[in-house]
Amino acid sequence: MAEQLRLMAVHAHPDDESSKGAATMAKYVAEGVDVLVVTCTGGERGSVLNPKMDRPEVWANIGEIRRAEMDAARAILGVEQAWLGFVDSGLPEGDPLPPLPEGCFALQDVEVAAAPLVRLIRKFRPHVITTYDEEGGYPHPDHIMTHKVTVAAFEAAGDPERHPDLGEPWQPLKLYYDIGFSRGKILALHEAILAAGIASPYEQWLERWEERPDKGPRITTRVECAEYFPVRDDALRAHATQIDPDGFWFQVPMELQQRAWPTEDFQLVRSLVDSPLPESDLFAGVRETAHAR
Ligand SMILES: [Zn+2]
Repeated sequence: MAEQLRLMAVHAHPDDESSKGAATMAKYVAEGVDVLVVTCTGGERGSVLNPKMDRPEVWANIGEIRRAEMDAARAILGVEQAWLGFVDSGLPEGDPLPPLPEGCFALQDVEVAAAPLVRLIRKFRPHVITTYDEEGGYPHPDHIMTHKVTVAAFEAAGDPERHPDLGEPWQPLKLYYDIGFSRGKILALHEAILAAGIASPYEQWLERWEERPDKGPRITTRVECAEYFPVRDDALRAHATQIDPDGFWFQVPMELQQRAWPTEDFQLVRSLVDSPLPESDLFAGVRETAHAR
């Protein structure tokens, strides 16, 4: 009998799961995979990025509202979701940067902060875990901390000597970093947008690209999931305080996005199974191993 496959995606804030790898999760859910999103912080220090939601009563209840938004997005994606319970560090701005607020996620000891994730891994028993790269995908202190904590928990969860009080050891088989933006992807979208006669927001981004390394060469795994881009967008819109539904992204025709870049892309960084690269499936090598058990 085939073993139930399980995927865990570790994110920093409510909304990150809907902008990074969301279509991939929706695809695996449709295939019958159990998917658990872990949200490290409550997003308490996020701004209100949607002008229509920028109202005093929203600001006054932002924590509660973001939990309700997460609930709606979770239902749309068809995933389970768990809070790790840490407090948002906020995105420090200014020169020099102000110190991080006391008690926030990014100031925790990595080993200590990884403990609740070790507990969740041992309980949910994922075969595959996804998270951000060492730069956090983008340089928010909570995203970098999410990376550190996930790598630490991936290593510790299967070790019976570590955290013996946190449940039966479980060793996940593969660890991936989400590669949201590569130069190839931005260029493909940019050219498709121009060809459709729409002004491209990526013009300046591409001009400045020289300053940042291209993560394209790191991609090992491209998951075809264009069919689920509309589900991703619905989940994003559920985070109404964080997403402006009139923003540029939602004006780009869906068909254009699906044609220009039909995959979500990942970098395989740890694997305990045989899975020749490049791959098109996060469970490549795992399906065989899991079924043979
Ligand atoms: Zn975030």
